[in-house]
Amino acid sequence: MANNVFVLGAGASAGESLPIAPPMMQQFFDKEVLDKIYASAEAGGLRLPALENAFGDLIDWIRLRWGLLDPFGTAKWRSLNLEDVFTSLAIEQEFFGERSDQGSKAQLRLSELKNYISQVLALTTRGSGKFANYLVRNIDKDDSILNFNYDLLVDREFLPGPQNHYANFHWKILGTAFSALHEGNFSESGIYLKLHGSLNWHTCSSTKCPGAATVHVVGTNPHGKLDLEAFNDCLSATGPVWKQCKTCRSAITCFMIPPLVNKPVLENWVARSIWGHAFDTLVRAKNVVIIGFSFQPTDFYAQWLFRSALQANLQANVWIVNPLNDPNKSGHTDFESRMTQIFGQRCRFDFLRFEEIAKII
Ligand SMILES: [Zn+2]
Repeated sequence: MANNVFVLGAGASAGESLPIAPPMMQQFFDKEVLDKIYASAEAGGLRLPALENAFGDLIDWIRLRWGLLDPFGTAKWRSLNLEDVFTSLAIEQEFFGERSDQGSKAQLRLSELKNYISQVLALTTRGSGKFANYLVRNIDKDDSILNFNYDLLVDREFLPGPQNHYANFHWKILGTAFSALHEGNFSESGIYLKLHGSLNWHTCSSTKCPGAATVHVVGTNPHGKLDLEAFNDCLSATGPVWKQCKTCRSAITCFMIPPLVNKPVLENWVARSIWGHAFDTLVRAKNVVIIGFSFQPTDFYAQWLFRSALQANLQANVWIVNPLNDPNKSGHTDFESRMTQIFGQRCRFDFLRFEEIAKII
């Protein structure tokens, strides 16, 4: 099999074989879920300040904006969607501009939110995922993976291996060779693309700095080897150790795109190239396997990408792997009709979970 494209969403990471699953979008402020994550970190010897203390300003701002009067993590906090918070802050920063007081406060809170997301994800996704491992070990050199998750579960499986997918990202997008060993003909082989950014992509927080226009991928080095220590720094619960831009000494921030805001995809050349290559990959795909990605009705950009790329490739088969394929699940009918609206009648709904990956491949 060749030219298969595997697409991973939050459901793929949440369904991994990990001691504690990373939260779904609507669980990031749910105290019951967070308490389990932090209790397990403490059992592992980590001492972390309470979230309300470490991220006090951010939490106060959310409380005010959403009118959440109950204690943090309880009542309506438990269904607050991370995408809404992320998007609101990104709009606020854009709207007021960095020269205004409100705009610069929004920028600081946006960094704080990225640190919050990084910490919660780092505490849950530090291990190796069995299904991500299986996928990476078994894909063909011409297959590609499009990942919408910030975590490093798939990255971890790619880095020590001989596959070209990770190197192709360096070569085709960033324009630098991942290593001398990888220089050569990449044009027709598969690629690993992260469409919403990544925990191990860092960028400068000062828009005046050339470092803000690009991403620095942490954990890979020019000799084609995994820099495990730097890679693990990105998954350290207290955040990356390397925190200053080498050019201007401003703070470093993770390169993450809020799912509902299109602007960074159009304006940042790295994001635009990634989405362009994702489009191209889908246009040439033979099979598209979408695991745990639900195409939220508000996620117009992802819907546009798949709908338009696959309209140019009517031969491609589309496999939807999602628990909502089960007719007994609530939300099944809406989900199936949304998928059919995006992909037409060719969708196959045979599989429910990432754990079935051995059967899927
Ligand atoms: Zn800088």
